[in-house]
Amino acid sequence: MYFDAVFVVLDMPPSTTVWSVDGLSMMTTRLSETDGSWHTQNNTVISTTIHCSHLKAIVQHLSTVPLSGFPMSLRELHDISLSFPHSEKMPVVFLGHGSPMNAIEENQFVAGLRSLATTLPKPHAILCISAHWYTNGTKVTAMQTPRTIHDFGGFPKELFEVQYPAKGSPELAQATKAILEPSIVELDEQWGLDHGAWSVIKHLYPNADIPVIQMSIDYTKPAQYHFDLAQRLHILRHKGILIIGSGNIIHNLRLVDWKNFKKDNFGYDWAIEARETINHYLLNGDYQPLIDFDKQSKAVHLAIPTPDHYLPLMYTLGLQEKGETLSLFNDKLIGGSLSMTSVTIA
Ligand code: ZN
Repeated sequence: MYFDAVFVVLDMPPSTTVWSVDGLSMMTTRLSETDGSWHTQNNTVISTTIHCSHLKAIVQHLSTVPLSGFPMSLRELHDISLSFPHSEKMPVVFLGHGSPMNAIEENQFVAGLRSLATTLPKPHAILCISAHWYTNGTKVTAMQTPRTIHDFGGFPKELFEVQYPAKGSPELAQATKAILEPSIVELDEQWGLDHGAWSVIKHLYPNADIPVIQMSIDYTKPAQYHFDLAQRLHILRHKGILIIGSGNIIHNLRLVDWKNFKKDNFGYDWAIEARETINHYLLNGDYQPLIDFDKQSKAVHLAIPTPDHYLPLMYTLGLQEKGETLSLFNDKLIGGSLSMTSVTIA
């Protein structure tokens, strides 16, 4: 077995072991919980050199260890390490996207997105999990040039004319597929960027100069599955990939009061209650009740009548690492039964 560069991350609570192979040498690092996360200490790893002929035995050993996170495909990890250099850890965000009109309007929510953009390190690429790509199985967009999808009706012509010409990233699509093995992820050439993605990303990166891929939400799976799947993507945060969940935490379209849609922070009593409940869990890092959202109060049930706009939040929460803080912005209700509450974890 010969590898130019291989990167294997193995989570074994309460410690983390990092193996990396470069040419004929291998570095191993084992960091206990008290050392903090391996990512921040990666520049100061204790390394030992092991001849490459030992690799097979080590890999065999790894395969016998119970895993909470990976394993990854070594071949694909080789590719990731070449395409996406290690970089400053990216925050992870959930963005309330609301009405598609936010794409072209000037309002407080758009200002909130612009303000967020000023705090983000420049990513190599974006992986967006949008409420509007809801599929049987998980897919990632793998085309070089994703089209701008206008997946809505009844809006002004101006909105249908918006194009967001960001490139795709077949490399990131491949890497995402590899990271999530043995879960099956289909490389997709048909989709593109739906408005859940472009209507918010265009305010973060108006020049469309950051490649964007989307990952779909498998509607056959419960919230816990999505939360767990997200955890396995965490290495991408250390490769300069900005992972965005895009939906709306409170999203009951059937009950929207369109007459009062412009009224600032207008929510029905149940929506106010649901926001309080959910924000309490978010700010306390108590995510299990949020994963079990269907076991919560009547107010939460009214807030999440279907999980499509809520599940992207599971990806954001699942990506939180130890010692990181969650903060909220755009935390307002609109039209009685929607919220724009957005989340940053860094
Ligand atoms: Zn939507």
